[in-house]
Amino acid sequence: MKMNRLAVAAALSLGIGVQANAYVLDGSSWPDGTATFHINITNQGAASSPSGIRWNDAFREAAGKWNAQSKFVFNVDENDPSHPCAGVGSYPQDGFRNGADFHPKVCNQVDGTEDDYGNKTLAVTVSYVYNSKPEEKVETDIFFNSAESWDIYDGAARTRFDFKRVALHELGHVMGLGHEESNPAIMQPTIGDTYNLQADDIAGAQTLYGAASDPGDPPIRMAIEEPFNGDVKAGISNFRGWVVSMNPLVSLTLYRDGVLFDTLDHNGKRVDVGNKYPDYPGSDNSGFSFTTNFGILSAGQHQYRLVARDNQGNTLEKTVNFNVERYDSAWVGDDTLISLDNAGVQITGSREIRIDGMRHDGKEYRVILNWKKAKQGFDVQEITRTQ
Ligand SMILES: [Zn+2]
Repeated sequence: MKMNRLAVAAALSLGIGVQANAYVLDGSSWPDGTATFHINITNQGAASSPSGIRWNDAFREAAGKWNAQSKFVFNVDENDPSHPCAGVGSYPQDGFRNGADFHPKVCNQVDGTEDDYGNKTLAVTVSYVYNSKPEEKVETDIFFNSAESWDIYDGAARTRFDFKRVALHELGHVMGLGHEESNPAIMQPTIGDTYNLQADDIAGAQTLYGAASDPGDPPIRMAIEEPFNGDVKAGISNFRGWVVSMNPLVSLTLYRDGVLFDTLDHNGKRVDVGNKYPDYPGSDNSGFSFTTNFGILSAGQHQYRLVARDNQGNTLEKTVNFNVERYDSAWVGDDTLISLDNAGVQITGSREIRIDGMRHDGKEYRVILNWKKAKQGFDVQEITRTQ
């Protein structure tokens, strides 16, 4: 939890024992994968560093660098600040709120004291855990040593210490990372020229909370589940599927046989899709479906084309070709006009039933039913008028 400002170059330039994934975990982490800091960071009364950058902005930027690399989410709230000493001495209690600020001492909520920083220590992160669940963090506070001189900059270390890289390091402790002694890392115990997250830091964060998203994830994924390609449709049936997108979708447009047919809502409950694609926001409410009478289409080949478009200009298209089988009448309201009284039924295959002589609205048909996996039941495969 300390950054020693002396051993600087030694730790960073030797490059000893480089190995993958040597990150160190401190044994505790956030069960919900998120932590909110309530800040109003000032140093010697100033909200900005000598270079003119606000301390709050640098802290927020450091939090954002971690957010980009794992599923862990830092929120930074400037509207309702909470001092890291809250609950110690004359500071009011604030519940389990995370604070960060410059301070001449390190506040300790357990014994209520303010302690000195260790020798040449730039900053200290104090983590509180439940007694019953010591692996779960409930509050963290970050103290930046106000006796040191600070600025904000990228690149090689200067006389004044870079607040942002120290914040980046301390936020690593907040997440549950310990000190990395051997590999290049922001989590090295000593400050140096490293001002960004390194592969070892990222591997540690991802071990604790999972990767932010698979870089192989396309911006949009979509499936039309019914009808499927080559499906046979007759009468009233469903059109259904799901769509997930990294960015907000601006349209989901369905064309039938090349003509605009409808724009679809896509917020139906799909726990299965959510489980399969947890990286996509809202993926558990990604379903679309509607019921349609395929009997109004002419018999033969038809096509649905579905086009999803997000607010970044990404598009994805899915096309299904299906066959319509139909009776001459698309809709028969009077059940007495349907009859199997003089029909013959045969089993014509392991999963096929043939009905000859079905009466439908005054005409006679041969109807073949077969097992449809997607439907998990028997459905029309063929309708042929025989009289
Ligand atoms: Zn440290």
